[in-house]
Amino acid sequence: MKNTKYIFITGGVTSSLGKGIISSSLAKLLQERGYSVTIQKLDPYINIDPGTLNPYEHGECYVTNDGAETDLDLGHYERFTDIITSQANNVTTGRIYQSVINKERKGDYLGKTVQIIPHITDEIKRRIKLLGKQDFDFVITEIGGTVGDIESYPYIEAIRQLKWEPENLVVVIHLTLVPYLSSSKELKTKPTQHSVKLMLESGVQPDIIVLRTEHNLTFAVREKVAKFCNVSMNAVIESIDVSTIYEVPLLMQKEKLDEVVLSKFNLKIKEAPSLKKWRKIVNTIKNADQKVKIALVGKYVELPDAYKSINEALIHAGAHLNLKPEIQFIHSEKLENENISEILASFDGVLVAPGFGHRGIEGKIDAVRFVREHNIPFLGICLGLQCAVIEFARNVLNMKDANSTEMHQNTPFPVIDLMEEQKSVINLGGTMRLGSYDCILSKKSKLYPEYGKTNLKERHRHRYEFNNKYFKKFEDAGMKATGINPDSDLVEIFEIPEHKWFTGVQFHPEYKSTVLNPHPVFISFLNACKK
Ligand code: GLN
Repeated sequence: MKNTKYIFITGGVTSSLGKGIISSSLAKLLQERGYSVTIQKLDPYINIDPGTLNPYEHGECYVTNDGAETDLDLGHYERFTDIITSQANNVTTGRIYQSVINKERKGDYLGKTVQIIPHITDEIKRRIKLLGKQDFDFVITEIGGTVGDIESYPYIEAIRQLKWEPENLVVVIHLTLVPYLSSSKELKTKPTQHSVKLMLESGVQPDIIVLRTEHNLTFAVREKVAKFCNVSMNAVIESIDVSTIYEVPLLMQKEKLDEVVLSKFNLKIKEAPSLKKWRKIVNTIKNADQKVKIALVGKYVELPDAYKSINEALIHAGAHLNLKPEIQFIHSEKLENENISEILASFDGVLVAPGFGHRGIEGKIDAVRFVREHNIPFLGICLGLQCAVIEFARNVLNMKDANSTEMHQNTPFPVIDLMEEQKSVINLGGTMRLGSYDCILSKKSKLYPEYGKTNLKERHRHRYEFNNKYFKKFEDAGMKATGINPDSDLVEIFEIPEHKWFTGVQFHPEYKSTVLNPHPVFISFLNACKK
Protein backbone atom coordinates (compact mmCIF):
# COMPACT_ATOMS: atom_id res chain seq x y z
CA MET A 1 0.00 0.00 0.00
CA LYS A 2 1.37 3.38 -1.01
CA ASN A 3 1.65 6.31 1.34
CA THR A 4 -0.66 8.55 -0.69
CA LYS A 5 0.03 12.25 -0.60
CA TYR A 6 -2.77 14.80 -0.88
CA ILE A 7 -2.49 18.04 -2.81
CA PHE A 8 -5.28 20.59 -2.60
CA ILE A 9 -5.86 23.37 -5.09
CA THR A 10 -7.97 26.25 -3.82
CA GLY A 11 -8.89 29.47 -5.57
CA GLY A 12 -8.98 33.05 -4.38
CA VAL A 13 -10.05 36.52 -5.54
CA THR A 14 -12.20 35.38 -8.49
CA SER A 15 -13.48 32.21 -10.07
CA SER A 16 -12.40 31.04 -13.55
CA LEU A 17 -8.66 31.42 -12.87
CA GLY A 18 -7.99 27.98 -14.26
CA LYS A 19 -7.67 25.75 -11.19
CA GLY A 20 -8.56 22.81 -13.41
CA ILE A 21 -5.72 23.60 -15.81
CA ILE A 22 -3.21 24.05 -12.98
CA SER A 23 -4.36 20.77 -11.38
CA SER A 24 -4.09 18.97 -14.71
CA SER A 25 -0.69 20.50 -15.47
CA LEU A 26 0.72 19.51 -12.09
CA ALA A 27 -0.68 16.00 -12.51
CA LYS A 28 0.99 15.79 -15.92
CA LEU A 29 4.37 16.88 -14.53
CA LEU A 30 4.19 14.40 -11.64
CA GLN A 31 3.16 11.64 -14.03
CA GLU A 32 6.13 12.40 -16.25
CA ARG A 33 8.34 11.93 -13.21
CA GLY A 34 6.95 8.43 -12.83
CA TYR A 35 4.36 8.99 -10.11
CA SER A 36 0.80 7.68 -10.24
CA VAL A 37 -1.70 10.48 -9.87
CA THR A 38 -5.43 11.07 -9.89
CA ILE A 39 -7.38 14.32 -9.79
CA GLN A 40 -10.68 14.99 -8.09
CA LYS A 41 -13.03 17.95 -8.14
CA LEU A 42 -15.17 18.92 -5.16
CA ASP A 43 -17.98 21.24 -6.21
CA PRO A 44 -19.68 23.28 -3.50
CA TYR A 45 -23.17 23.41 -5.03
CA ILE A 46 -26.28 21.55 -3.90
CA ASN A 47 -27.07 19.73 -7.18
CA ILE A 48 -26.20 16.06 -6.90
CA ASP A 49 -24.27 16.41 -10.16
CA PRO A 50 -24.15 18.88 -13.06
CA GLY A 51 -26.30 16.58 -15.24
CA THR A 52 -29.43 18.59 -14.61
CA LEU A 53 -27.71 21.98 -15.00
CA ASN A 54 -28.32 24.13 -18.03
CA PRO A 55 -25.04 24.62 -19.97
CA TYR A 56 -25.52 28.39 -19.53
CA GLU A 57 -25.08 27.78 -15.80
CA HIS A 58 -22.09 25.54 -15.76
CA GLY A 59 -20.79 24.86 -19.27
CA GLU A 60 -20.57 21.36 -20.64
CA CYS A 61 -21.48 18.29 -18.66
CA TYR A 62 -18.63 15.79 -19.02
CA VAL A 63 -19.43 12.06 -19.03
CA THR A 64 -17.05 9.41 -17.71
CA ASN A 65 -16.75 5.75 -18.74
CA ASP A 66 -18.82 4.66 -15.73
CA GLY A 67 -21.62 7.00 -16.79
CA ALA A 68 -21.15 9.77 -14.24
CA GLU A 69 -22.32 13.23 -15.33
CA THR A 70 -19.54 15.45 -14.09
CA ASP A 71 -17.93 18.86 -14.09
CA LEU A 72 -16.12 19.91 -17.26
CA ASP A 73 -12.81 20.09 -15.38
CA LEU A 74 -12.73 16.29 -15.41
CA GLY A 75 -12.45 16.64 -19.16
CA HIS A 76 -9.25 18.65 -18.69
CA TYR A 77 -7.92 16.04 -16.25
CA GLU A 78 -8.40 13.28 -18.81
CA ARG A 79 -7.18 15.32 -21.78
CA PHE A 80 -3.92 16.33 -20.09
CA THR A 81 -3.08 13.05 -18.38
CA ASP A 82 -5.00 10.19 -20.04
CA ILE A 83 -6.20 9.28 -16.53
CA ILE A 84 -9.60 7.59 -16.69
CA THR A 85 -11.88 9.35 -14.20
CA SER A 86 -15.10 8.09 -12.63
CA GLN A 87 -17.91 9.19 -10.33
CA ALA A 88 -15.45 9.20 -7.41
CA ASN A 89 -13.52 12.02 -9.09
CA ASN A 90 -16.37 14.52 -8.83
CA VAL A 91 -18.30 15.12 -5.63
CA THR A 92 -20.76 17.94 -4.97
CA THR A 93 -22.11 19.34 -1.73
CA GLY A 94 -25.45 17.84 -2.75
CA ARG A 95 -23.93 14.37 -2.86
CA ILE A 96 -22.17 14.89 0.50
CA TYR A 97 -25.39 15.98 2.18
CA GLN A 98 -27.35 13.19 0.51
CA SER A 99 -25.11 10.52 1.99
CA VAL A 100 -25.09 12.12 5.45
CA ILE A 101 -28.89 12.45 5.42
CA ASN A 102 -29.30 8.85 4.22
CA LYS A 103 -27.09 7.67 7.09
CA GLU A 104 -29.09 9.78 9.54
CA ARG A 105 -32.33 8.18 8.34
CA LYS A 106 -30.85 4.73 8.84
CA GLY A 107 -29.93 5.63 12.41
CA ASP A 108 -26.21 5.34 11.75
CA TYR A 109 -25.42 8.34 13.94
CA LEU A 110 -26.88 6.63 17.04
CA GLY A 111 -28.99 9.53 18.19
CA LYS A 112 -26.30 12.19 17.87
CA THR A 113 -27.08 15.68 16.57
CA VAL A 114 -25.90 15.67 12.94
CA GLN A 115 -23.79 18.76 12.21
CA ILE A 116 -21.58 20.34 9.57
CA ILE A 117 -18.61 19.64 11.84
CA PRO A 118 -17.90 16.76 12.24
CA HIS A 119 -20.44 14.92 10.06
CA ILE A 120 -20.33 16.87 6.80
CA THR A 121 -16.57 17.44 7.08
CA ASP A 122 -16.04 13.73 7.87
CA GLU A 123 -17.98 12.81 4.74
CA ILE A 124 -15.87 15.25 2.68
CA LYS A 125 -12.69 13.70 4.08
CA ARG A 126 -14.00 10.20 3.42
CA ARG A 127 -14.62 11.07 -0.24
CA ILE A 128 -11.09 12.46 -0.58
CA LYS A 129 -9.44 9.46 1.08
CA LEU A 130 -11.54 7.03 -0.93
CA LEU A 131 -9.35 7.91 -3.91
CA GLY A 132 -6.23 7.57 -1.76
CA LYS A 133 -7.23 3.96 -1.07
CA GLN A 134 -6.78 3.22 -4.78
CA ASP A 135 -3.02 3.28 -4.30
CA PHE A 136 -2.01 6.51 -6.02
CA ASP A 137 1.18 8.36 -5.13
CA PHE A 138 -0.75 11.62 -5.31
CA VAL A 139 -4.39 12.61 -5.07
CA ILE A 140 -4.90 16.15 -6.32
CA THR A 141 -8.17 17.63 -5.10
CA GLU A 142 -9.47 20.80 -6.69
CA ILE A 143 -11.95 22.73 -4.58
CA GLY A 144 -14.49 24.49 -6.80
CA GLY A 145 -15.52 28.08 -6.12
CA THR A 146 -13.60 30.77 -4.33
CA VAL A 147 -12.24 30.91 -0.78
CA GLY A 148 -14.49 33.10 1.34
CA ASP A 149 -17.75 31.89 -0.24
CA ILE A 150 -20.06 30.56 2.48
CA GLU A 151 -20.40 27.28 0.65
CA SER A 152 -16.67 26.54 0.53
CA TYR A 153 -16.11 26.74 4.31
CA PRO A 154 -16.78 23.05 5.07
CA TYR A 155 -14.23 22.11 2.40
CA ILE A 156 -11.53 24.40 3.77
CA GLU A 157 -12.31 23.07 7.25
CA ALA A 158 -11.93 19.49 5.95
CA ILE A 159 -8.51 20.42 4.51
CA ARG A 160 -7.52 21.97 7.86
CA GLN A 161 -8.43 18.78 9.68
CA LEU A 162 -6.65 16.56 7.17
CA LYS A 163 -3.53 18.68 7.53
CA TRP A 164 -3.50 18.06 11.27
CA GLU A 165 -4.13 14.32 11.16
CA PRO A 166 -0.65 12.92 11.70
CA GLU A 167 -0.99 10.13 9.14
CA ASN A 168 -1.70 12.50 6.23
CA LEU A 169 0.78 14.26 4.04
CA VAL A 170 -0.87 17.38 2.69
CA VAL A 171 0.22 20.31 0.53
CA VAL A 172 -2.11 23.22 -0.23
CA ILE A 173 -1.72 25.28 -3.39
CA HIS A 174 -3.67 28.52 -3.55
CA LEU A 175 -4.35 30.05 -6.97
CA THR A 176 -5.18 33.75 -7.04
CA LEU A 177 -5.19 36.70 -9.38
CA VAL A 178 -2.76 39.61 -9.44
CA PRO A 179 -4.64 42.31 -11.35
CA TYR A 180 -2.75 44.75 -13.55
CA LEU A 181 -3.60 48.43 -13.28
CA SER A 182 -2.82 49.92 -16.65
CA SER A 183 -2.96 53.55 -15.45
CA SER A 184 -0.13 53.01 -12.98
CA LYS A 185 1.38 50.05 -14.90
CA GLU A 186 1.40 47.98 -11.73
CA LEU A 187 0.58 44.45 -10.68
CA LYS A 188 -1.32 44.51 -7.40
CA THR A 189 -0.88 41.87 -4.71
CA LYS A 190 -3.41 43.13 -2.17
CA PRO A 191 -6.29 40.86 -3.30
CA THR A 192 -3.93 37.90 -2.90
CA GLN A 193 -2.91 39.00 0.56
CA HIS A 194 -6.57 39.27 1.57
CA SER A 195 -7.45 35.95 0.10
CA VAL A 196 -4.62 34.22 1.98
CA LYS A 197 -5.77 36.02 5.12
CA LEU A 198 -9.21 34.49 4.61
CA MET A 199 -7.63 31.05 4.45
CA LEU A 200 -5.65 31.77 7.59
CA GLU A 201 -8.87 32.70 9.39
CA SER A 202 -9.99 29.15 8.62
CA GLY A 203 -6.73 27.80 9.91
CA VAL A 204 -5.14 26.86 6.59
CA GLN A 205 -1.78 28.25 5.51
CA PRO A 206 -1.19 27.65 1.80
CA ASP A 207 2.20 26.07 1.08
CA ILE A 208 2.43 27.35 -2.48
CA ILE A 209 0.83 30.35 -4.14
CA VAL A 210 0.20 30.40 -7.88
CA LEU A 211 -0.45 33.86 -9.27
CA ARG A 212 -2.49 34.22 -12.43
CA THR A 213 -1.29 37.30 -14.26
CA GLU A 214 -1.40 39.11 -17.58
CA HIS A 215 2.19 40.37 -17.17
CA ASN A 216 5.37 38.76 -15.90
CA LEU A 217 5.82 39.04 -12.15
CA THR A 218 8.65 41.28 -11.05
CA PHE A 219 11.03 40.19 -8.32
CA ALA A 220 9.42 42.80 -6.05
CA VAL A 221 5.95 41.32 -6.56
CA ARG A 222 7.17 37.80 -5.79
CA GLU A 223 8.97 39.06 -2.74
CA LYS A 224 5.92 40.91 -1.48
CA VAL A 225 3.66 37.89 -1.85
CA ALA A 226 6.22 35.65 -0.15
CA LYS A 227 6.58 38.06 2.74
CA PHE A 228 2.92 38.86 3.33
CA CYS A 229 1.58 35.39 2.65
CA ASN A 230 4.14 33.42 4.69
CA VAL A 231 5.62 31.32 1.90
CA SER A 232 9.17 31.00 0.62
CA MET A 233 10.13 32.86 -2.56
CA ASN A 234 10.39 29.69 -4.61
CA ALA A 235 6.82 28.81 -3.63
CA VAL A 236 5.47 31.88 -5.43
CA ILE A 237 4.65 30.64 -8.91
CA GLU A 238 3.78 32.72 -11.95
CA SER A 239 0.93 31.59 -14.17
CA ILE A 240 0.86 33.98 -17.09
CA ASP A 241 -1.87 34.02 -19.77
CA VAL A 242 -0.99 31.87 -22.78
CA SER A 243 -2.53 31.27 -26.19
CA THR A 244 -3.18 27.56 -25.58
CA ILE A 245 -3.96 25.84 -22.27
CA TYR A 246 -1.64 23.01 -23.32
CA GLU A 247 1.31 25.31 -22.79
CA VAL A 248 0.59 25.56 -19.07
CA PRO A 249 2.42 22.33 -18.07
CA LEU A 250 5.51 23.69 -19.83
CA LEU A 251 5.21 26.99 -17.97
CA MET A 252 4.65 25.22 -14.65
CA GLN A 253 7.75 23.16 -15.29
CA LYS A 254 9.73 26.33 -15.96
CA GLU A 255 8.42 27.79 -12.71
CA LYS A 256 9.34 24.48 -11.01
CA LEU A 257 5.89 23.94 -9.52
CA ASP A 258 6.44 20.17 -9.50
CA GLU A 259 9.82 20.51 -7.82
CA VAL A 260 8.46 22.76 -5.10
CA VAL A 261 5.62 20.29 -4.48
CA LEU A 262 8.08 17.37 -4.24
CA SER A 263 10.31 19.33 -1.89
CA LYS A 264 7.35 20.09 0.39
CA PHE A 265 6.81 16.33 0.67
CA ASN A 266 10.55 15.82 1.24
CA LEU A 267 10.79 13.72 -1.91
CA LYS A 268 13.99 13.42 -3.94
CA ILE A 269 14.04 15.69 -6.98
CA LYS A 270 15.46 13.98 -10.01
CA GLU A 271 16.17 15.48 -13.40
CA ALA A 272 13.23 17.27 -14.99
CA PRO A 273 11.39 15.22 -17.64
CA SER A 274 11.89 16.43 -21.23
CA LEU A 275 8.18 16.49 -22.21
CA LYS A 276 9.42 16.13 -25.78
CA LYS A 277 6.24 14.81 -27.33
CA TRP A 278 4.11 17.34 -25.49
CA ARG A 279 6.34 20.23 -26.56
CA LYS A 280 6.07 19.16 -30.16
CA ILE A 281 2.27 19.05 -30.00
CA VAL A 282 2.09 22.48 -28.35
CA ASN A 283 4.34 23.82 -31.06
CA THR A 284 2.03 22.47 -33.78
CA ILE A 285 -1.06 23.83 -32.02
CA LYS A 286 0.51 27.27 -31.99
CA ASN A 287 2.24 27.31 -35.34
CA ALA A 288 0.56 24.95 -37.83
CA ASP A 289 0.02 27.07 -40.90
CA GLN A 290 -2.52 25.04 -42.83
CA LYS A 291 -5.96 26.08 -41.60
CA VAL A 292 -9.30 24.28 -41.82
CA LYS A 293 -12.47 26.25 -41.23
CA ILE A 294 -15.01 24.36 -39.17
CA ALA A 295 -18.54 25.56 -38.43
CA LEU A 296 -19.86 24.30 -35.10
CA VAL A 297 -23.63 24.59 -35.33
CA GLY A 298 -25.24 24.71 -31.90
CA LYS A 299 -27.53 26.74 -29.71
CA TYR A 300 -25.23 27.65 -26.82
CA VAL A 301 -22.82 29.56 -29.04
CA GLU A 302 -22.60 32.55 -26.68
CA LEU A 303 -20.86 30.23 -24.25
CA PRO A 304 -17.94 28.27 -25.76
CA ASP A 305 -17.61 26.25 -22.52
CA ALA A 306 -20.83 24.47 -23.52
CA TYR A 307 -18.88 22.69 -26.29
CA LYS A 308 -15.54 22.46 -24.47
CA SER A 309 -14.70 18.83 -25.25
CA ILE A 310 -15.62 19.16 -28.94
CA ASN A 311 -13.45 22.24 -29.25
CA GLU A 312 -10.52 20.49 -27.59
CA ALA A 313 -11.00 17.27 -29.60
CA LEU A 314 -10.74 19.31 -32.83
CA ILE A 315 -7.53 20.91 -31.54
CA HIS A 316 -6.02 17.49 -30.66
CA ALA A 317 -6.89 16.02 -34.05
CA GLY A 318 -5.61 19.19 -35.75
CA ALA A 319 -2.26 18.90 -33.99
CA HIS A 320 -2.04 15.26 -35.07
CA LEU A 321 -2.58 16.25 -38.72
CA ASN A 322 -0.47 19.40 -38.55
CA LEU A 323 -3.54 21.55 -39.09
CA LYS A 324 -4.99 24.52 -37.31
CA PRO A 325 -8.76 24.14 -37.00
CA GLU A 326 -10.46 27.52 -37.02
CA ILE A 327 -13.69 26.86 -35.21
CA GLN A 328 -16.56 29.25 -35.67
CA PHE A 329 -19.72 28.88 -33.60
CA ILE A 330 -22.90 29.25 -35.64
CA HIS A 331 -26.19 29.85 -33.88
CA SER A 332 -28.67 27.26 -35.16
CA GLU A 333 -31.61 29.56 -34.35
CA LYS A 334 -30.28 32.02 -36.91
CA LEU A 335 -30.00 29.47 -39.74
CA GLU A 336 -32.74 29.27 -42.35
CA ASN A 337 -32.82 27.81 -45.85
CA GLU A 338 -32.69 31.39 -47.23
CA ASN A 339 -29.42 32.43 -45.56
CA ILE A 340 -27.72 29.09 -45.17
CA SER A 341 -25.55 29.13 -48.24
CA GLU A 342 -24.23 32.57 -47.37
CA ILE A 343 -23.35 31.40 -43.85
CA LEU A 344 -22.07 27.85 -44.43
CA ALA A 345 -20.62 27.72 -47.96
CA SER A 346 -17.17 28.99 -47.00
CA PHE A 347 -16.50 26.26 -44.42
CA ASP A 348 -14.34 23.19 -45.02
CA GLY A 349 -16.53 21.15 -42.69
CA VAL A 350 -19.64 21.44 -40.54
CA LEU A 351 -20.23 19.87 -37.14
CA VAL A 352 -23.75 19.75 -35.70
CA ALA A 353 -23.57 19.71 -31.93
CA PRO A 354 -25.32 17.65 -29.26
CA GLY A 355 -28.26 19.18 -27.44
CA PHE A 356 -31.64 18.81 -25.83
CA GLY A 357 -35.08 20.19 -26.58
CA HIS A 358 -36.77 21.93 -29.44
CA ARG A 359 -34.96 25.28 -29.56
CA GLY A 360 -32.78 25.72 -32.63
CA ILE A 361 -33.49 22.26 -34.03
CA GLU A 362 -34.84 23.33 -37.44
CA GLY A 363 -31.69 25.38 -38.14
CA LYS A 364 -29.59 22.30 -37.42
CA ILE A 365 -31.71 20.19 -39.78
CA ASP A 366 -31.37 22.85 -42.52
CA ALA A 367 -27.60 22.87 -41.98
CA VAL A 368 -27.48 19.10 -42.53
CA ARG A 369 -29.47 19.42 -45.73
CA PHE A 370 -27.07 22.04 -47.04
CA VAL A 371 -23.92 20.01 -46.36
CA ARG A 372 -25.47 16.79 -47.64
CA GLU A 373 -26.53 18.42 -50.90
CA HIS A 374 -23.24 20.31 -51.33
CA ASN A 375 -20.90 17.45 -50.45
CA ILE A 376 -19.32 19.33 -47.53
CA PRO A 377 -17.81 17.10 -44.80
CA PHE A 378 -20.29 16.67 -41.96
CA LEU A 379 -20.02 15.33 -38.43
CA GLY A 380 -23.18 15.05 -36.34
CA ILE A 381 -22.79 14.21 -32.67
CA CYS A 382 -25.71 12.73 -30.71
CA LEU A 383 -28.51 15.23 -31.45
CA GLY A 384 -26.41 16.05 -34.54
CA LEU A 385 -26.84 12.45 -35.76
CA GLN A 386 -30.54 12.61 -34.93
CA CYS A 387 -30.87 15.79 -37.04
CA ALA A 388 -29.17 14.01 -39.95
CA VAL A 389 -31.68 11.16 -39.68
CA ILE A 390 -34.63 13.58 -39.60
CA GLU A 391 -33.29 15.52 -42.56
CA PHE A 392 -32.74 12.37 -44.61
CA ALA A 393 -36.23 11.12 -43.79
CA ARG A 394 -37.85 14.40 -44.82
CA ASN A 395 -35.88 15.25 -47.93
CA VAL A 396 -34.72 11.91 -49.33
CA LEU A 397 -37.36 9.46 -48.12
CA ASN A 398 -40.20 11.98 -48.56
CA MET A 399 -41.51 11.45 -45.05
CA LYS A 400 -43.13 14.83 -44.58
CA ASP A 401 -42.89 16.12 -40.99
CA ALA A 402 -40.60 13.30 -39.91
CA ASN A 403 -39.15 14.17 -36.54
CA SER A 404 -37.87 12.98 -33.21
CA THR A 405 -40.59 12.40 -30.62
CA GLU A 406 -38.49 14.64 -28.36
CA MET A 407 -39.46 17.56 -30.61
CA HIS A 408 -42.86 16.45 -31.91
CA GLN A 409 -44.65 13.74 -29.99
CA ASN A 410 -47.24 12.99 -32.65
CA THR A 411 -45.05 13.14 -35.72
CA PRO A 412 -46.33 10.81 -38.47
CA PHE A 413 -42.76 9.48 -38.91
CA PRO A 414 -41.01 9.08 -35.52
CA VAL A 415 -37.61 8.28 -37.03
CA ILE A 416 -36.01 9.12 -33.69
CA ASP A 417 -37.89 7.80 -30.70
CA LEU A 418 -37.56 7.35 -26.95
CA MET A 419 -35.60 4.24 -26.01
CA GLU A 420 -37.77 1.46 -24.59
CA GLU A 421 -36.08 1.52 -21.17
CA GLN A 422 -36.60 5.30 -20.97
CA LYS A 423 -40.37 5.11 -21.20
CA SER A 424 -40.89 4.51 -17.47
CA VAL A 425 -38.25 7.01 -16.31
CA ILE A 426 -39.57 9.88 -14.19
CA ASN A 427 -36.51 11.46 -12.51
CA LEU A 428 -34.25 13.57 -14.72
CA GLY A 429 -30.91 13.24 -12.90
CA GLY A 430 -28.61 10.38 -13.92
CA THR A 431 -31.29 8.48 -15.82
CA MET A 432 -30.18 8.75 -19.46
CA ARG A 433 -28.27 6.09 -21.39
CA LEU A 434 -24.96 7.14 -19.87
CA GLY A 435 -21.35 6.05 -20.10
CA SER A 436 -19.48 3.50 -22.13
CA TYR A 437 -21.26 1.10 -24.48
CA ASP A 438 -19.98 -1.30 -27.13
CA CYS A 439 -20.23 -0.59 -30.82
CA ILE A 440 -19.32 -2.90 -33.67
CA LEU A 441 -17.85 -0.90 -36.53
CA SER A 442 -18.22 -2.05 -40.13
CA LYS A 443 -14.96 -2.42 -42.03
CA LYS A 444 -16.62 -0.47 -44.84
CA SER A 445 -16.88 2.61 -42.62
CA LYS A 446 -14.78 5.65 -43.53
CA LEU A 447 -13.83 5.66 -39.84
CA TYR A 448 -12.32 2.18 -39.96
CA PRO A 449 -8.83 3.16 -41.19
CA GLU A 450 -8.42 5.56 -38.25
CA TYR A 451 -9.92 3.25 -35.61
CA GLY A 452 -8.07 0.23 -37.01
CA LYS A 453 -10.44 -2.09 -35.12
CA THR A 454 -14.09 -3.08 -35.15
CA ASN A 455 -14.82 -3.41 -31.41
CA LEU A 456 -15.33 0.09 -30.07
CA LYS A 457 -16.34 1.46 -26.71
CA GLU A 458 -17.72 4.97 -26.71
CA ARG A 459 -19.47 7.18 -24.18
CA HIS A 460 -23.13 8.11 -24.36
CA ARG A 461 -25.58 10.63 -22.98
CA HIS A 462 -29.04 10.48 -24.52
CA ARG A 463 -32.61 9.23 -24.13
CA TYR A 464 -33.64 8.96 -27.79
CA GLU A 465 -32.44 6.60 -30.49
CA PHE A 466 -32.84 5.82 -34.17
CA ASN A 467 -36.13 3.97 -34.67
CA ASN A 468 -35.12 0.61 -36.17
CA LYS A 469 -38.56 0.29 -37.78
CA TYR A 470 -37.13 2.50 -40.55
CA PHE A 471 -33.77 0.71 -40.79
CA LYS A 472 -34.27 -0.85 -44.22
CA LYS A 473 -35.67 2.32 -45.80
CA PHE A 474 -32.56 4.28 -44.74
CA GLU A 475 -30.13 1.60 -45.84
CA ASP A 476 -31.83 1.18 -49.24
CA ALA A 477 -31.71 4.93 -49.89
CA GLY A 478 -27.99 5.17 -49.13
CA MET A 479 -27.70 6.08 -45.46
CA LYS A 480 -25.84 3.14 -43.93
CA ALA A 481 -25.67 2.07 -40.32
CA THR A 482 -21.94 1.39 -39.99
CA GLY A 483 -21.85 1.09 -36.20
CA ILE A 484 -24.26 -1.00 -34.16
CA ASN A 485 -24.49 -1.90 -30.49
CA PRO A 486 -24.24 -5.71 -30.38
CA ASP A 487 -26.54 -6.12 -27.36
CA SER A 488 -29.43 -3.81 -28.22
CA ASP A 489 -29.06 -3.36 -32.00
CA LEU A 490 -29.15 0.41 -31.48
CA VAL A 491 -27.60 2.29 -34.39
CA GLU A 492 -24.49 4.07 -33.12
CA ILE A 493 -23.09 5.38 -36.43
CA PHE A 494 -24.72 6.41 -39.70
CA GLU A 495 -22.78 7.29 -42.83
CA ILE A 496 -23.56 8.21 -46.42
CA PRO A 497 -20.81 6.38 -48.37
CA GLU A 498 -21.60 8.30 -51.58
CA HIS A 499 -20.89 11.60 -49.84
CA LYS A 500 -17.37 12.99 -49.44
CA TRP A 501 -17.57 12.46 -45.66
CA PHE A 502 -20.94 12.36 -43.91
CA THR A 503 -21.02 10.77 -40.47
CA GLY A 504 -23.40 10.90 -37.54
CA VAL A 505 -22.50 9.30 -34.23
CA GLN A 506 -24.98 8.65 -31.42
CA PHE A 507 -22.10 8.62 -28.93
CA HIS A 508 -19.79 11.44 -27.84
CA PRO A 509 -16.31 10.85 -29.27
CA GLU A 510 -15.19 14.21 -27.85
CA TYR A 511 -15.14 12.83 -24.29
CA LYS A 512 -12.42 10.35 -25.16
CA SER A 513 -10.05 12.58 -27.10
CA THR A 514 -6.82 13.49 -25.32
CA VAL A 515 -3.73 15.48 -26.31
CA LEU A 516 -1.63 12.34 -26.71
CA ASN A 517 -4.47 10.19 -28.06
CA PRO A 518 -6.58 12.29 -30.44
CA HIS A 519 -9.85 10.62 -31.35
CA PRO A 520 -10.19 8.68 -34.65
CA VAL A 521 -13.57 10.28 -35.47
CA PHE A 522 -12.12 13.80 -35.28
CA ILE A 523 -8.96 12.83 -37.16
CA SER A 524 -10.99 11.26 -39.94
CA PHE A 525 -13.32 14.30 -40.07
CA LEU A 526 -10.50 16.87 -40.24
CA ASN A 527 -8.68 14.79 -42.82
CA ALA A 528 -11.74 14.99 -45.04
CA CYS A 529 -12.07 18.75 -44.39
CA LYS A 530 -8.45 19.26 -45.39
CA LYS A 531 -8.77 17.61 -48.79
N1 GLN B 1 -31.72 15.11 -26.85
C1 GLN B 1 -31.21 13.95 -27.51
C2 GLN B 1 -31.47 12.69 -26.71
O1 GLN B 1 -31.72 12.74 -25.53
C3 GLN B 1 -29.74 14.09 -27.81
C4 GLN B 1 -28.88 14.19 -26.60
C5 GLN B 1 -27.49 14.69 -26.87
O2 GLN B 1 -27.23 15.31 -27.90
N2 GLN B 1 -26.58 14.48 -25.94
O3 GLN B 1 -31.43 11.61 -27.24
